[in-house]
Amino acid sequence: MAEPARVVIVGAGLAGLRVAEELRARDYRGSITLIGAEDRPPYDRPPLSKKVMIGELDDTSLRADMDSLGTDLRLAERAVGLGAGVLRTDQAEYAWEALVLATGANPVTLAGSGPQHVLRTLDDALKIRAVLTQGTTLAIVGAGWIGAELATAAARRGCHVTVLEAASTPLASAVGADIGRVTIPWYAEAGVELRLNENVAAIEPGGIALAGGGWVSADLIVTAVGVRPAVSWLTGSEVRLDNGIAADGQLRTSVPNVFAAGDCASFWSARYQRQLRFEHWDVALHAPEVVAANVLGGSTEYDPVPYFWSEQFGRMVQYVGFHGSADRLIWRGRPTDAKWAACWLAGDRLVATLTVGLPRDLIQARRLMEAGGLVDPAKLADAGIAVRDSGIAG
Ligand SMILES: Cc1cc2nc3c(=O)[nH]c(=O)nc-3n(C[C@H](O)[C@H](O)[C@H](O)COP(=O)(O)OP(=O)(O)OC[C@H]3O[C@@H](n4cnc5c(N)ncnc54)[C@H](O)[C@@H]3O)c2cc1C
Repeated sequence: MAEPARVVIVGAGLAGLRVAEELRARDYRGSITLIGAEDRPPYDRPPLSKKVMIGELDDTSLRADMDSLGTDLRLAERAVGLGAGVLRTDQAEYAWEALVLATGANPVTLAGSGPQHVLRTLDDALKIRAVLTQGTTLAIVGAGWIGAELATAAARRGCHVTVLEAASTPLASAVGADIGRVTIPWYAEAGVELRLNENVAAIEPGGIALAGGGWVSADLIVTAVGVRPAVSWLTGSEVRLDNGIAADGQLRTSVPNVFAAGDCASFWSARYQRQLRFEHWDVALHAPEVVAANVLGGSTEYDPVPYFWSEQFGRMVQYVGFHGSADRLIWRGRPTDAKWAACWLAGDRLVATLTVGLPRDLIQARRLMEAGGLVDPAKLADAGIAVRDSGIAG
């Protein structure tokens, strides 16, 4: 397609904003409409469970001067349906020649009639923070990334924190039980009570009813059990949905000139030979470069070695790559120490690395994986040898 005269972007989060920025960076002069359901201009989410929660930051706006981008920014407006060349919102209809779907994800909530918070928006964060004062009893359901970060901040603010986790370790579904097990002592060190193998039956007024019959009282309950792609409004449209919006390796959906990026989109990865969807800031940052190039007639592939970080219990945890349960785990250093790394191998190929306090290992692992990932496992397991020196050309 020749350069479209009108681009409409749905979702004014990081991915949506970045598509607009990348279009302008490529000298696109046509019209861009950026539609967001929230009533705020685009802002950053990672600080919400970190600096915002401890009170060091209130404003996480992504761009000080939205006007300079030359977009028609429609806030507090929600897309509700998609027809041929027309997007319907709860307030208007927009004709598009290219459409970008970047609606992110919505937190899962649990059954029950009690007040239940989630942490996805700045408003969510400010509401939770307002209650996190000395002595508040906080119960968090879910020991995933966000549960752990919120527990860190709440403990620092002097709250009594209990984290309930259905699995036998934290982070089990995120990176696997081997790593999660290592993080168990981090909770106790921070004065946080971690209760594993606890299934929640319902969130009730004043506390949580456990499936086993127990009861956990709390002043504030935050459910942090994961998110689902925000795509229900596309049901019945021509856009194929499969674990979010199904896109190909160029981030094109099943409908011509409709693209998808960020938390809402899965994409075909030639690198991993499968359809993948990530809820990573780095993906929402960089996938829009590819979307913008392809909106403007390119045929660029998006196939990253994905990257994620988390700051919890005074530690910087970083993860790069993608591994499955069949991949072989190799430790670098002792996981009881302050700094260590874990690497996953498929055969002799490095497919993922998690580091705690070792950003250099992480960067080197990423480069190795980008170059194909063949390594000498014995060297990789030796923390005295630089990660990059474990690589084998091939
Ligand atoms: C508290 C928190 C901490 C995080 N920390 C980290 C971290 O440490 N490291 C990391 O890598 N990642 C982190 N993430 C994840 C990262 O922030 C996300 O991957 C990233 O925000 C995804 O960007 P996005 O633009 O795809 O989606 P979003 O940021 O969710 O933006 C999508 C926007 O679309 C809007 N929208 C939805 N439906 C519609 C509709 N129908 N019409 C119009 N607008 C709509 C939404 O309201 C939202 O504003 C964190 C996320 C949260 C919530």
